[in-house]
Order: sequence, then structure tokens, then C-alpha cells
Amino acid sequence: MAAIHLKQVRKTYGRGAKAVDVIHGIDADIADGEFIVMVGPSGCGKSTLLRMVAGLEEISDGQIVIGDRVVNELEPKERDIAMVFQNYALYPHMTVYENMAYGLKIAGLAKGEIDERVQRAAVILELGALLERTPRQLSGGQRQRVAMGRAIVRKPAVFLFDEPLSNLDAKLRVQMRLEIQKLHASLRTTSLYVTHDQVEAMTLGQRMIVMNKGVAEQIGTPAEVYARP
Ligand code: ADP
Ligand code: ADP
Repeated sequence: MAAIHLKQVRKTYGRGAKAVDVIHGIDADIADGEFIVMVGPSGCGKSTLLRMVAGLEEISDGQIVIGDRVVNELEPKERDIAMVFQNYALYPHMTVYENMAYGLKIAGLAKGEIDERVQRAAVILELGALLERTPRQLSGGQRQRVAMGRAIVRKPAVFLFDEPLSNLDAKLRVQMRLEIQKLHASLRTTSLYVTHDQVEAMTLGQRMIVMNKGVAEQIGTPAEVYARP
């Protein structure tokens, strides 16, 4: 668990005449255990900001602090973060079990510990009967569960979600939203969640960051953000 502090975070893609500023000095303080939803029009910089927090993208200027560590100075594998993507990004040739275990194996955890974590995640996410299947043999909702499982077995200090439910049909979206809500209620992992869905924003977000053109236009509770004057 960890608080996240964004201090005048900037991102410029390209160099010289081709340089494009896409994030223009964002400040935000996210409390330990808080669930923050980020919304904003396509192209406003949400994914870029998530990827910078995840260490998948260089920070052009400013600082991102997670817990007591300045992220800019860390190697990606030193960051205690797990990210869930819209397209799940599962390994197609691995079973469900192997997909969830892989990151832990790379991290050097003992076999027994890996097995315990994967089995526990499988119970939480109702994947117990599917552990030997490959992603091809799963429904969209089940794949999304595996992606979530792969994130939670890492026991990260921070969860990042990039529109994790947008490829699911309406019924599954509701179900997975409730599961994410339950998961946060029990794990209390600091979470940053990008969505276009107002229902997700209102039900999951303790606070919201409203992005527009690379700027955080508003930071507040869903009630404050959606309040009509
Ligand atoms: P969002 O997630 O809000 O849709 P993005 O963070 O994906 O926005 O993109 C923000 C802006 O940065 C967009 O104008 C996009 O075209 C641009 N952009 C994203 N990735 C790159 C890249 N690798 N190189 C150059 N420009 C990029
Ligand atoms: P691989 O590069 O083969 O996927 P790992 O799964 O060990 O190897 O990942 C290497 C590093 O990439 C991790 O230490 C972590 O920082 C990052 N990483 C891997 N998976 C995720 C994920 N789901 N979310 C965020 N970061 C990840």
C-alpha cells in the first residue's frame, strides 16, 4: 500500500521541431488505499499518465512519488505496481495458472508461495475450475478475471487499470465492476482507474481526476464532479 504524489508531471513526445507536449504539469495527491477514477476525452493523456506511473513511459519533467520512493529513479521492475489493460494482454500459449504465476516466477518467488497466491486468487475470482485452460478457451469475462488475478497475485502497492471493462458486454461489465468494488473493499490497494463509463466512475471512484488536453481540470468526489449548477 502506498500514497502517490504527482508533482508538476510533464510529458513531451518527440524532440526538437517534432516535440509535442501532451501532459502539462499535473499535480495530484492520492492517499494510501484510495480509489481514484480518471476520466477525459480521447487523446487527453490518461494512458500516458498511467504508463508514466507504471514506469512504462519516461517522465519528461516533474516527479512521481509512490510511497517513499521517487519513481523517476527506479527501474520498471523495482516499482511495486500491477496494471490491468483493456485487451488483457494474456500470454496465449500459457494456461490460466501459468499466466498468473509467470510474473511471480520471474520475480524469483518460491514454488510453494507462488502456488498459494495463485490458488487464493483463483478462489477470489472463481477461476478454480479453469486453471488448466488457455486464454483461447475462455470467455471475455473469464479472461478479464485472469488479468485481474495476474495483478492481485503480485500483491502490489498500487493497481493501475486502463479501461479494463470496455471490451465486455453490458452484463459482464456490471458483474466485473461489482467484483472490482469488492476487491478494493477487501484489499484496499491504492488504485488509479481510467474509464469512459460514468457509472463506473460514480460507483468505484472515491475521487476523480478530470483530464482535458493534458491538464487535470478538476479533482474531486464524483458528487462534486457531476454536480450540475
Ligand atoms: P488518452 O489515454 O487520454 O486517450 P493518450 O495518453 O493515449 O490519451 O494520448 C495523449 C496524446 O499523446 C495524444 O495526442 C496521442 O496522440 C499522443 N501520444 C500517445 N502516445 C504517443 C507516442 N508514443 N508518441 C507520440 N505521441 C503519442
Ligand atoms: P515480462 O517482461 O516477460 O512480462 P515480468 O512479467 O517479470 O516479465 O515483468 C517485468 C516487469 O514488467 C515487472 O517487474 C513489472 O515492473 C512490469 N510488469 C509486468 N507485468 C506487469 C503488469 N501486469 N502491470 C504492470 N507492470 C508489469
